[in-house]
Amino acid sequence: MRQALPKEPNILEVEKKWQSKWEELGTYRFDWNDLERPVFSIDTPPPYTSGEFHIGLVLNWTYFDVVARYKRMRGYNVHFPQGWDCHGLPIEVVVEKANKIKKTDVPPDQFRKLCMQLVEKNIEGMKKSIMRLGCSIDWSTEYRTMNPDYWRRTQLSYILLYNKGFIYRGKHPVNWCPRCETAIADAEVEYDTRNAELHYIKFKLEEGGFLEIATTRPELIPACVTVAVNPNDERYAKYVGKSVQVPTTDRMVKVIADEMVDPKFGTGVVMICTYGDKADVKTVIKHDLPVIMCIDEKGRMTKDAGKYAGMKSEEAKKAMLADLKGQGLVDKAEPLTQEVSLCWRCRTPIEILEREQWFMKTRIFTDDVEKNALEITWYPDYMKHRLIDWAKSLEWDWVISRQRVFATPIPIWYCNNCNEIILAKPEWVPIDPRTEKPKVDKCPKCGFRDFRPERDVLDTWFDSSITCAVHAGWPDKKDWHRLFPASMHPSGVDIIRTWAYYLMVRHLALFNEKPYQSCLINGMVLGTDGREMHKHLGNYVASLEVMSKYGADATRQWATAGGATGSDIPFRWPDVEYGWRFLIKLWNASRFVNDLIADFEMNDKSEHALQPLDKWILSKVERLTKKVTDALERCQFNIAIEETRNFAWHVFCDCYIEAVKDRLYKPEHYSEEKRKAAQYTLYTVLYRILQLLAPITPHVTEEIYQIMYVNDKGCKSINLSPWPTPDEKLIDEEIEKHGDLIVALINEIRREKSEKHMPLNAPVKRLKTYAGSKDFAKIIAEGKEDICGTCKIEDFEVVPKKGDGREVANYGDVHFVIEC
Ligand SMILES: [Zn+2]
Ligand SMILES: [Zn+2]
Repeated sequence: MRQALPKEPNILEVEKKWQSKWEELGTYRFDWNDLERPVFSIDTPPPYTSGEFHIGLVLNWTYFDVVARYKRMRGYNVHFPQGWDCHGLPIEVVVEKANKIKKTDVPPDQFRKLCMQLVEKNIEGMKKSIMRLGCSIDWSTEYRTMNPDYWRRTQLSYILLYNKGFIYRGKHPVNWCPRCETAIADAEVEYDTRNAELHYIKFKLEEGGFLEIATTRPELIPACVTVAVNPNDERYAKYVGKSVQVPTTDRMVKVIADEMVDPKFGTGVVMICTYGDKADVKTVIKHDLPVIMCIDEKGRMTKDAGKYAGMKSEEAKKAMLADLKGQGLVDKAEPLTQEVSLCWRCRTPIEILEREQWFMKTRIFTDDVEKNALEITWYPDYMKHRLIDWAKSLEWDWVISRQRVFATPIPIWYCNNCNEIILAKPEWVPIDPRTEKPKVDKCPKCGFRDFRPERDVLDTWFDSSITCAVHAGWPDKKDWHRLFPASMHPSGVDIIRTWAYYLMVRHLALFNEKPYQSCLINGMVLGTDGREMHKHLGNYVASLEVMSKYGADATRQWATAGGATGSDIPFRWPDVEYGWRFLIKLWNASRFVNDLIADFEMNDKSEHALQPLDKWILSKVERLTKKVTDALERCQFNIAIEETRNFAWHVFCDCYIEAVKDRLYKPEHYSEEKRKAAQYTLYTVLYRILQLLAPITPHVTEEIYQIMYVNDKGCKSINLSPWPTPDEKLIDEEIEKHGDLIVALINEIRREKSEKHMPLNAPVKRLKTYAGSKDFAKIIAEGKEDICGTCKIEDFEVVPKKGDGREVANYGDVHFVIEC
């Protein structure tokens, strides 16, 4: 006797039960000792420990958890690690606020401790969410980038790259956030349009008269190093080489010609300041111009700004304009919408400052990045261009140093006598130069015994861009290449330029190998109103709210069904509710099947007396298996879930189960063999549906499996059961066509009954069907038993001709007449 399925499933409890059982049983552990099965390794991006596992991450994690589960069922030994990306500004900012301190108010190790406490608290909540989503992670792999063991790897990678000549220290313009007081990389700069004013300002020509320039940033005038015009601009050709006076200063600068000046912008004369934007940087390098820094690291004017020194740049702008007006040098101002560069963390407009920084050579790898990006499989394919275009657009190398505290330290000291750089040896790391001395007695160059530490720290991306190697076991496991390159790197569309890119250049530079074989991209989750999701727009939904209401399996259905992989999808409560209702439907159907097959012997190997409708659904389920397998191979999750749900709900529940009920209830009217055939079919098709759903709805399918199938099938979890190979022999187009017709007829009769307000089980005295052709008549006659049984028809007649009566939907030649 089979166990019964409870009438009311408590889905939320079922999910929690399996989440702890799977963990207890180690269902998803990677088996390091298994050398038989092929390996599939997922480069789980360690999420930033902001404290919130938001709905966008739910989409991300659902995608690759589906892949992990599918691959396990395909027979792979799946490596699915989980780490936490801990370092960085946002954590520092929260700590500063909460403790009412600035990073420099306490010793670095104390500040660090406060940050670590916050990170631990944040991880706790995020981990709960990932577990609540039912991700099949191997939690024995859990790591934190702030821990010494990970520092060691990050610092070792720094040492290796340094020794290969890919890291250098240099004075170079960098993007600078004056609020965060740190350098930031190109990838951390965001763009937005803002309203600005274009001021027309007169520069005095040495020989008399004026040259008028247009600028949105008059406060940078003290840093003006030249004035430029386009060489083809006839209006100004005569001024090239002449000198103009920089207003408010006594400096004279020469007018130069440069093609990059747009004669149509403003007056066609531009001032070049160090630095207003990246174009200024190019011009300064090209013409070998001096650099004057008039803005400092806090965004205030320096002493080079003369009387404006100490002012914030906005104040300086006002003061400068007032002074210029006083001198009659301002002509007019025009409104202008302008693209501005913002810090991605705090959205403060960035400045371009020149400061000693550490850089990694990245642009030398651009051709290599492109070559590898083309070799990799992208889901969806067009996303590869995002990586290639980004790599090609980069104008500067990656600035990897940051002027912060909570980060991996740069393993460098300087000799206090000759400034020689002392790089840590691989065996010294992890090490913090801010609190530890180098393990040498004296400077190798001059013999001096006093050193000072590098106080700058590493960009957080420098930690997280070596995960493919770290997950594989580098540098400790000798056979780390077993898991490298990772089979799949999953990422959000918005971080291709950071995560996918940095992983690529870092691993190419370190190992001369690509880090991942495929890249799975998810789009953004939009708010309930279709706009970008933001707390202040009122369209924000917390992932835990969704999961506590409808559970993981319904949430995962929303995520997978929401849209094509890579596209943005809106969050919609009705989609989650639909997923929930589907689970209830699946449960009820399973309970019904379970009752009907109570006496069915699964191991009965005798041939089943399969009826047309049995063969029909057995063929259809093979076709479905083919479609779903194909969809999952291509990471088309929406197709996999939609096809399976439609089949389960409409083909299996609405058509097949309804059509065989009578056969199961009244074997005396049919035969015991035909009843068994229906039992066999129900048992087989339901199991297949559960298997196809398992990667997407792992909890409910597991619960049904454990009650109905585990003893027969022998796998300890449906999530480890072998993925069904579609049996092409069972796919029969003819049989499907026949079954479709029988089902269409049954459905039409049921509709007729319901329109006549007859109960569905009310007897029909007589049914006369005009099949329209001999072929159709034969098919309908073959289905007679199931048609009559389902519709309670007492007298059944099929005529192979056209005739009057109710038309069967989609079969224009088939009509019938009912006599009650
Ligand atoms: Zn900032
Ligand atoms: Zn020295």
